[in-house]
Amino acid sequence: MSIFKRLRAGVKRAHQAVTQPKRYTLMGKFVTCSHCGGQTFFAREAQLNTSWRTFLNVDWLDENAAVLVCSKCGHLEWFLSNPKSFTSST
Ligand SMILES: [Zn+2]
Repeated sequence: MSIFKRLRAGVKRAHQAVTQPKRYTLMGKFVTCSHCGGQTFFAREAQLNTSWRTFLNVDWLDENAAVLVCSKCGHLEWFLSNPKSFTSST
């Protein structure tokens, strides 16, 4: 990954930190917290290094996973595909 892409990703994360939680959909269903049932999340990107991808047997993926942090209880929902923001403002 280029340094510019890393910088952009950093800016994106910093921006997301101050935005309101959003609802997300994946495969046409709202993402729901498996712990408290909440439906609003803060999105984060997580880097999956090669050894993690090998461990998960997903070497075909790129190095980013999506993490949705429940705005109510803080539970982390991990996705290897990108959920869509319901408000789609980005
Ligand atoms: Zn929750």
